[in-house]
Amino acid sequence: MADKIVMVGAGLSGAVIGRALADAGRAVSVVDSRNHVGGNCHTARDADTGVMVHTYGPHIFHTDDAEVWDYVTGFARFRPYKHRVMTTAEGRIYGLPVNLHTINQYYNATMKPAEARAFIAEQAEDIADPQSFEEQALAFVGPDLYTAFFKGYTQKQWGTSPTALPAAILKRLPLRFNYDDNYFFHRFQGMPEDGYTPLIAAILDHPGITVQLSTPFDPAEANQWDHVFWSGPLDGFFDYRLGRLGYRTLDFERFTHDGDYQGCAVMNYGDVDVPHTRITEHKHFAPWENHAGSVLYREESRACGPDDIPYYPIRLVDEKAMLADYVEEAKTVSNVTFVGRLGTYRYLDMDVTIREALDCARAWLAARDAGTPAPVFSQAPL
Ligand code: UDP
Repeated sequence: MADKIVMVGAGLSGAVIGRALADAGRAVSVVDSRNHVGGNCHTARDADTGVMVHTYGPHIFHTDDAEVWDYVTGFARFRPYKHRVMTTAEGRIYGLPVNLHTINQYYNATMKPAEARAFIAEQAEDIADPQSFEEQALAFVGPDLYTAFFKGYTQKQWGTSPTALPAAILKRLPLRFNYDDNYFFHRFQGMPEDGYTPLIAAILDHPGITVQLSTPFDPAEANQWDHVFWSGPLDGFFDYRLGRLGYRTLDFERFTHDGDYQGCAVMNYGDVDVPHTRITEHKHFAPWENHAGSVLYREESRACGPDDIPYYPIRLVDEKAMLADYVEEAKTVSNVTFVGRLGTYRYLDMDVTIREALDCARAWLAARDAGTPAPVFSQAPL
């Protein structure tokens, strides 16, 4: 008899795995507690201004993975989009990521690439094996740029001193000795012309897939299914019985403006005494559109409570210890695969989410064919 398969969550992981299974001839039931597909990638046009709003915060698609790029562009038309981020720090505006323009502006200089490289090497502190975010930053750019661009922002974003955060967070950010201010350096970058929700709806649009929205899934009913793909929080599946994995949540204070408020999509705020981390002006994500009005989000980060939306997994020492315990629990449930950002408790970019979802679906199908155990996670959480 055919497997009874449920996918919990109609975000990117759920849609991509569901589609791969449906393409392989399986019937998949997709449920989501929200009233829309797309998870946190959800976009919706604002009724008053016509601006496409990234409801759960900014999402920019970028990847080096040609298969993933072919995949998304096979389901929606993408428009060229180059992400540039500005930052307001110490009373002035600079471009990010830190590049030659940022350095020359900050030091009021006219350095050439080699001069800037030598100058920053002088500023950088000699730390042999940087452990914390702060050590990594001091070894990377020295105290001036660290304080202006990373220290305050990171303190606000993570609610923790950069001395207690892992060095790995900074490794997401490049340092450039040229005038390239593209925030990402991947080969492929773009925005879906009509937003992310139609893209994900198109992935889910298959006769083998049924989607039920506004339909929470009770993990106690997992045994009624041959297989469950769970893209909700890993600890939530177990009713938080070993404790709650720490997350940062975001508050978006929405406001509107006539015309152009800030002239760019994302303006970061590096100073610690400004409470918000950034302001997003959504219409700049669609530079091919014209709107008289504007919709903005002022974004603040704080500890995630039980009723808040979990955004960023914290993954410090305590969280990793609890995570290890949940990983052991997960291994005891043979008919569930935990997938995606919340299911594996990892910070994930959209392209990585899709790559892992494609791989997970293939691994699951191969295991079914071979009669071997299903994967427990789309990717090992630790
Ligand atoms: N970051 C920073 N200053 C900035 C932007 C980022 O110090 O102006 C640090 C911060 O710790 C942040 C990390 O770099 O958490 C990753 O930044 P990214 O822009 O990739 O974060 P996202 O847009 O995914 O929230």
